[in-house]
Amino acid sequence: MAQQEISVLGIKVRDITVTETAELIEKFVSERNKSHLIVTLGTEMVMASQKDSSLKELINNASLVCADGAGVVWGAKKAGLKIREKAAGVEILEEVVKRSSESKLKIFLLGAKPGTAEKAKENLKNKYPNCNIVGTFHGYFKEDLEAIEIIKKAKPDVIFTALGFPKQEKWYLSHAQELDIPVGMGVGGSFDVLSGNIARAPMWMRKLSLEWLYRLIKEPSRLGRMMSIPKFIFAVLFSKHDKKK
Ligand code: UDP
Repeated sequence: MAQQEISVLGIKVRDITVTETAELIEKFVSERNKSHLIVTLGTEMVMASQKDSSLKELINNASLVCADGAGVVWGAKKAGLKIREKAAGVEILEEVVKRSSESKLKIFLLGAKPGTAEKAKENLKNKYPNCNIVGTFHGYFKEDLEAIEIIKKAKPDVIFTALGFPKQEKWYLSHAQELDIPVGMGVGGSFDVLSGNIARAPMWMRKLSLEWLYRLIKEPSRLGRMMSIPKFIFAVLFSKHDKKK
């Protein structure tokens, strides 16, 4: 069944679950007919796109935009689309990794501080011993020539880029063809979580959609960035044009 899409403050987002996203990634890889960017949308990205139309274009041209956060799910509901489940980047990544023992999809992890992607791979390998992570590289390169060499040799089908928005999406778009990688997805701070460097919020907070509060308590320096949340709420409440017709 085709999943529904809606526009929230001019940015498209789809009602798609974590499992459905993993299935779609496998379909894109098997078709291998173009490069597919997958965006995991947060409120901060929506707000940044209000001021910069090139970011809006970048997101709206992606093959798939998932709702990565309670804010976007709420915004979509206000605009008229009930999103069944939050599809967070970290969960999609883990699902694709888990399924890779069967699907044989070759996965590359690019980004985060030196050692972090490697540690994330190690933890994922412990959890899913037959998973198919074919390489990692950190995200603090001046020039990415070394990374490119390593990625070329690994020949991944999917690359998860953890370089922050929009660097991670732009990196994939500018290298996808040269490296012949059918799917790329930006995953923000996911490797920090999967490596154990940053803990995820406890389940009860996640269930109450309070993951943002947990991150704020752990990293108070994020307060400035998080001001995008109230701005997003106001913008959605006062927007007329995104409502379903
Ligand atoms: N990062 C990187 N290279 C850079 C800038 C950032 O590898 O030049 C990494 C950073 O270490 C972190 C991730 O990108 O692991 C982005 O984290 P952030 O907290 O911004 O992402 P969010 O989860 O908020 O989208």
